[in-house]
Amino acid sequence: MPLFLPHFNIQKFNTLAVPAVANYFVSVQSDEDLREAIAFAKAEQLPLLVLGGGSNIVLRSDFPGLVLHMKTRGIDLVEESDEFVWLKVAAGENWHELVEYSLDNGFYGLENLSLIPGSVGAAPIQNIGAYGVELKDVFAELSALNIQSGLMVTFTNESCQFGYRDSIFKQSLKDQYIITSVTLKLRKVPELNLEYPALRAALIDIPEGEITAEQVSAAVIAIRQSKLPDPVQIPNVGSFFKNPIIPIGQFEHLKSSYPTIVSYPIDAQQVKLAAGWLIDQAGWRGREVNGVKVHQDQALVLTNPGKLEGKLILQLADSVVASVQEKFGVVLEMEPRVYP
Ligand code: FAD
Ligand code: NAP
Repeated sequence: MPLFLPHFNIQKFNTLAVPAVANYFVSVQSDEDLREAIAFAKAEQLPLLVLGGGSNIVLRSDFPGLVLHMKTRGIDLVEESDEFVWLKVAAGENWHELVEYSLDNGFYGLENLSLIPGSVGAAPIQNIGAYGVELKDVFAELSALNIQSGLMVTFTNESCQFGYRDSIFKQSLKDQYIITSVTLKLRKVPELNLEYPALRAALIDIPEGEITAEQVSAAVIAIRQSKLPDPVQIPNVGSFFKNPIIPIGQFEHLKSSYPTIVSYPIDAQQVKLAAGWLIDQAGWRGREVNGVKVHQDQALVLTNPGKLEGKLILQLADSVVASVQEKFGVVLEMEPRVYP
């Protein structure tokens, strides 16, 4: 039986370092622990917060329920072909440690996703992505426990309905499943993705045919460390907003007023804007309100250096959204999930 710890301080379990207390906290180390935790929550009628690294949540206040901390471990090679390996990874494994493990063992595809904080089980929730690669590009399937029925279900790449920082687990199946493992399909010979200009620039001294996956990972780590605040030093949840995707007509209108607007085509009808650029142009970069800040080096990141309450961060986020909407007519959508 896992230990259910009452009145538990979860400040150290969210990377924004928001001070908050959960009614109960339990560390889940096995599928059996998970079932017992769900039974406890049902018996006590407690809402659940499934927690990995806490790097994509904002705690508005205390959590009046059971925080279920996923700490299951295990990386198993479950299938192999001439070209690929399939790794089944427990939800509680750390994402970046998995990236390092894959490179150490000559399995490729995760290098662009180096240094993303958090757990493997959370990676499918928003289809984590960076430097032109998303989880869906290496994803084979996942196992998840249905909270209501107790049945273990397999989800394929298609049934996860992955989108831009999105999946079925944020939409129609929100709060219905707990992901217990993720199976990734990795290459034995790397196929590098160097489409992001910052990545290409970091590797400019190496002839393209000679670049290794390990060098790509090292470059991604170096770029990230140069512009993103380390949550251990300066609490944050990475990008606070998603990059907005807007219709081409609206984009052309904006471009005529703001010729330097940063944008990337999605398809013939839609364009992605860099939310960081919009926030910067609206005058927010480096600004501090009530002790919480818009990061100086990347305006898409809000920071909580004083480890203050979540509601102050949400107030700052609201002000940013309102002023970007007023200036550009574009509504920014928050990326992290707010609890309770
Ligand atoms: P948590 O914050 O613990 O949880 C996030 C959500 O997932 C919650 O709703 C939670 O209930 C749910 N969840 C967690 N585990 C499970 C599970 N096993 N089953 C069901 N639901 C679950 N994200 C990117 O996509 N790309 C980046 O490049 C990136 N860079 C970042 C950089 C920094 C400095 C920081 C702080 C964050 C960054 N993020 C990035 C955001 C974050 O790291 C990812 O979203 C990550 O996947 C969150 O993992 P976590 O374990 O911390 O999730
Ligand atoms: P950046 O390189 O300064 O680029 C700014 C934005 O432009 C990014 O958000 C990126 O969109 C987009 N972009 C750049 N080159 C692109 C291209 N060739 N094609 C399409 N879109 C392009 O970004 P950054 O802030 O340093 O982040 C680098 C990468 O890490 C990005 O992929 C970003 O998503 C990821 N990241 C994510 C988080 C998070 O919490 N979600 C935090 C830090 C970094 P995309 O965001 O769509 O890639």
